[in-house]
Amino acid sequence: MLKGKTALVTGSTSGIGLGIAKALAQQGANIVLNGFGDVEGPKAQVQALGVKVAYHGADMSKPAEIEEMMKFAAGEFGRVDILVNNAGIQHVARVEDFPPEKWDAILAINLSSAFHASRLAIPAMKAANWGRIINVASVHGLVASAEKSAYVAAKHGLVGLTKVTALENATTGITCNAICPGWVLTPLVQKQVDAKAAAGGISNEQATKQLLGEKEPSMQFTTPEELGQLAVFFCSPAANNVRGVAWNMDGGWAAQ
Ligand code: NAD
Repeated sequence: MLKGKTALVTGSTSGIGLGIAKALAQQGANIVLNGFGDVEGPKAQVQALGVKVAYHGADMSKPAEIEEMMKFAAGEFGRVDILVNNAGIQHVARVEDFPPEKWDAILAINLSSAFHASRLAIPAMKAANWGRIINVASVHGLVASAEKSAYVAAKHGLVGLTKVTALENATTGITCNAICPGWVLTPLVQKQVDAKAAAGGISNEQATKQLLGEKEPSMQFTTPEELGQLAVFFCSPAANNVRGVAWNMDGGWAAQ
């Protein structure tokens, strides 16, 4: 379905981003990976699906590096048809204890990076009259939790940016939508499970149950593979007129 198209997925060396990159590659899209840590492993996993893969290590908190990444992607594959703004980090503390530099980093990586990548991707999408922008927000783009001020503010902002981007392009072949996962067991969440286990002197398994029990009625993690399939749907012809939605996959979290 996506043969001949190019997808750039930010923060795709791990977790949800890698799951989405692989799902789009399964549909035939060439992939530009981005993110920190091991690159060769994720690259090999995507390459094994029979598509072309490139990597750019832009730090998504730095607009100049995002600009370089977008130029690189266009140079490698001609154009970015699908942009998945996924890179994100977390920090947990009460507002009065929240380190200002962590606030700035979360706003830059989880929100402003999506603005920069989108503003740089849209002109070529417009020229082709086809494009997909998928913002990986969170259930925290829809509801709040204590001790996550920067994250919740950034994700609510990302849902707002999604709606504006969708509206501005509503008469074109460019759509913009957000994905709002509940708990997904990636390194980002494993850190929160570990902290809970350490704080309560409980096992990893008990901490996991507590974490799910507090918020997620299904008592199940959503998987990167399931989120990948939602991204594939947004890229499909059936979703041509799906514009500006914030679609949660959260085990019933936001329904409460
Ligand atoms: P993860 O830690 O597994 O992956 C994060 C990715 O972002 C990694 O590839 C990392 O290298 C990259 N990254 C971090 N900082 C970066 C930077 N400055 N520049 C470039 N890349 C950077 O986390 P994840 O759980 O897969 O999270 C992916 C997205 O999904 C995030 O936006 C997160 O907020 C969102 N999300 C996660 C969950 C969850 O439960 N895990 C739930 C809702 C939303």
